[in-house]
Amino acid sequence: MLKTIQLHKKYNDFTALQSLDLEVGKGEIYALLGQNGAGKSTTINILLGLIKATSGDAFINNISVKDHPQEIKKHLAYIPETVLLYPNLSGIENLDFFSQIAGFNYTKDELAAFLKRTGLQESAYYKDLGGYSKGMRQKVGIAIALAKDAKVLLLDEPTSGLDPIATAEFTEIVRQFGKEGRTVFMATHDIFNAVNVATHIGIMKQGELIQNLPSKNFSAEEV
Ligand code: ADP
Ligand code: ADP
Repeated sequence: MLKTIQLHKKYNDFTALQSLDLEVGKGEIYALLGQNGAGKSTTINILLGLIKATSGDAFINNISVKDHPQEIKKHLAYIPETVLLYPNLSGIENLDFFSQIAGFNYTKDELAAFLKRTGLQESAYYKDLGGYSKGMRQKVGIAIALAKDAKVLLLDEPTSGLDPIATAEFTEIVRQFGKEGRTVFMATHDIFNAVNVATHIGIMKQGELIQNLPSKNFSAEEV
């Protein structure tokens, strides 16, 4: 699970995040909505341990990000808007590389099985990632999360630039992630997809969480 307690971030004098209290449980899918500049990336970057909160703390599986920034990386997988993988390596080589960084040594068959679970076409496994679409790269990102056995998945704008078929496939994989008892947290502008896939929705405005609801109670008019 994922939790923030009174998380606060200032960039010099500018307050980007104010008193953020969030809790996303096992099996829950949280979509954080908000306009550009609302503070979504700041929140994700703090969860990832990439930037430090000014005050407050975040917890991944009850482990403090502030106190254990290295330890939490084992429990997290992050798929940025532009998936940062190696274009000159194939899908399966990227998966192998990032699995090894996370401390796992899988056989070719095991690696292929992770890719298969994401629905990536087998014909793509050995092709250079540079020729992949965003949806295909995202599947490799999901396979890395599965290979790491990450309990928490963070996603930044996961559906931007995806066609409807890739969006539907992505949605299914994220639902499956939740069903396995993992936690998903995504920052997005895609209200339609958020309502479709998320169990909970938050709206952030100028660094403040102005709404935090189960998605069944969410009304798009409030955005
Ligand atoms: P979002 O992801 O919702 O677009 P961000 O978290 O990127 O929002 O940014 C929130 C606010 O903080 C914005 O006004 C942005 O310009 C500001 N900001 C983000 N990063 C920095 C930084 N490194 N230095 C100064 N201001 C920043
Ligand atoms: P996003 O829309 O995903 O938040 P941005 O283009 O707003 O992406 O920000 C990209 C990067 O630039 C982030 O790492 C953010 O922290 C940084 N950034 C955003 N605004 C500022 C700012 N005013 N000053 C310095 N860095 C900033």
